[in-house]
Amino acid sequence: MAVRFDNRVALVTGAGAGLGKCHALLLASRGAKVVVNDPGGSTAGQGGSNAVADTVVDEIRKSGGEAIANYDSVADRAGAERMVRTAIESYGKIDIVVNNAGILRDKTFSKMELDDFDDVIKVHLLGSVYVTKAAWQHMIDQKYGRVVLTTSGSGLAGNYGQSNYGAAKTGMIGLMHNLMTEGAKYNVRINSISPVAATRMTEGLLPEQMLKKLDPRQVSPAVAWMCSEECDATGEIIAAGAGYFARVKLVKGAGAVVGNGEIATIEDFVAAKEQIFDLNGAAPYSKTIDDDTRRILGMA
Ligand code: NAD
Repeated sequence: MAVRFDNRVALVTGAGAGLGKCHALLLASRGAKVVVNDPGGSTAGQGGSNAVADTVVDEIRKSGGEAIANYDSVADRAGAERMVRTAIESYGKIDIVVNNAGILRDKTFSKMELDDFDDVIKVHLLGSVYVTKAAWQHMIDQKYGRVVLTTSGSGLAGNYGQSNYGAAKTGMIGLMHNLMTEGAKYNVRINSISPVAATRMTEGLLPEQMLKKLDPRQVSPAVAWMCSEECDATGEIIAAGAGYFARVKLVKGAGAVVGNGEIATIEDFVAAKEQIFDLNGAAPYSKTIDDDTRRILGMA
């Protein structure tokens, strides 16, 4: 059975170019009504042009789909509310939010201005918070919602010169892990995509030979699945690029109990270091107080 989005309303942020555009086109081609959000600025988030979102809306309409543009910034709380209002006023509801908008202000931490840190956090992390928050209660009330966050290997693993971006991208994972619990009983599911794709954001950062093989359309099937009724996952991260998809998970090793029932000394910790760092037998870190800790506390 083909995965379809008939009678579903989606908001895709930063949908005027790159990955967001591919996500919006795919959702619309399968029947979703799409709010194409994009203020159309530079990779650093400066300037703007309505034409960026308008072009994608035109493309969707020409192919027989339904779409409407919004030019607000996700970093603006009122703007985030307007995006969701556009969906509700134009199409009656909001079912899907793809938080995709992003900017870059790369510099080593030594050289980075704090304004560049703030601005990147505002677009990626707070932008995702503002847009998701604006849609959240509608999703809870209608007992249906699909939210996608766009994380990055730069946050999950780290990348030189991207402390602001990496912090924002991993902050989203904390957001996801908490919202997944709050949304679960209302059929509101939230997952993250960790993409790699040739877009203006990676131009000059990745080698040309690699970029040729990284068509951004290769990421969208995973995002579209996360947006679908068929999506039975919540709180998951999927790495995607070049047709390769893989689940990413924060894991915890088997660990060691040290100190023989007394307060452990630094030396106790050092003596058990090999065991503490060993990831053989690692399992997903899935609870605030996990089963191992409960067992050790005698509360399992
Ligand atoms: P891109 O620059 O082509 O697209 C980003 C889009 O977001 C642009 O159209 C831009 O105008 C829009 N945008 C920027 N600031 C905005 C704001 N304040 N409000 C709304 N829209 C805004 O880059 P891309 O590679 O397509 O990036 C899409 C997302 O994927 C970003 O979140 C990025 O961090 C993430 N990502 C990309 C890669 C990759 O390999 N390309 C890797 C990891 C993560």
